[in-house]
Amino acid sequence: MTENKKYEKNSAFTLVEILIVVIIIGILAGLMALSAGSSTETAERTACRGDQRTVKSAYYVESAERSNSFKTSIENAMAQFSKAQKVSTGEGAAMYKGICPAGGEYIMVQDIVNANSTNGKLTIMCTVEGHNGDAQLSALERLQLWSNIINGMKYSGLNDADFVSSLNQIFGTHLDTGSYFGTNDQVRDLIAKKFDTMPALEKDSALYKELKNTIMKDQTPYVQPYFINEGKETIYWISPKEKSTDKYWYADAIYYNGNWYMKKDGDKYTTSMIAGFNNAKSVKDALQGIGMLDNNGSISSNWVPIG
Ligand SMILES: [Zn+2]
Repeated sequence: MTENKKYEKNSAFTLVEILIVVIIIGILAGLMALSAGSSTETAERTACRGDQRTVKSAYYVESAERSNSFKTSIENAMAQFSKAQKVSTGEGAAMYKGICPAGGEYIMVQDIVNANSTNGKLTIMCTVEGHNGDAQLSALERLQLWSNIINGMKYSGLNDADFVSSLNQIFGTHLDTGSYFGTNDQVRDLIAKKFDTMPALEKDSALYKELKNTIMKDQTPYVQPYFINEGKETIYWISPKEKSTDKYWYADAIYYNGNWYMKKDGDKYTTSMIAGFNNAKSVKDALQGIGMLDNNGSISSNWVPIG
């Protein structure tokens, strides 16, 4: 009996505590912007990242408190920010302007696309270059962030015009509504154009060293995405081709379940032909197609984890 009472009291306190933290983070972000001089790019970047964290916290509090849909939760959370102006909301994504001090638009996507990710996780991206902390991310994480945003928006319930206009804002492209279908090639092209190349693997990583010591001696390893099942799942892989438009479907390494793997043919590493991914219905289907997974879905013995 007393136990129950105690529990109720504690859980109520937790929510209030979370709200206080949200408010404090907001004030701190504001103070940081003021102290650094709000006209500088650095201050705007710092303030924007702080605001993104505040928005995220507000969303998490809102969705933890009431189990509403994404659309309702994000609208309730954003109503707490007087400067926020709604551009568009859908069942899995939303766009707001007015918060970023440099005039950027926030694209917010519920991360429900990739089967391995936590349900309900919110990804936020500001349309202003440099406002997303990209530089601190690894090549793989950066690619995952961008893939989640693009493919998440595709299944977000946003109307076509809003979807294409936000892509154009993020990527500086001039796509027309009706000309963008989110195919594997189109998404890969957008990412490669945005960064000039696919992201290069970090030189201090175990995979980089293993590749350079063996099958990629004179080549640069670039991390690539392959979108399976119309963008609902993604396989990340390594090839020496820096642009998406270089059609080359041989993987030197493949990322699966949190690990990079290289394929052995006898005692030597080898590449794998992955053009067949094109017809795969799921990641499992694709990886079974190249023999990386056996019939039970376990990793085949000739695929070696690296790092
Ligand atoms: Zn911003």
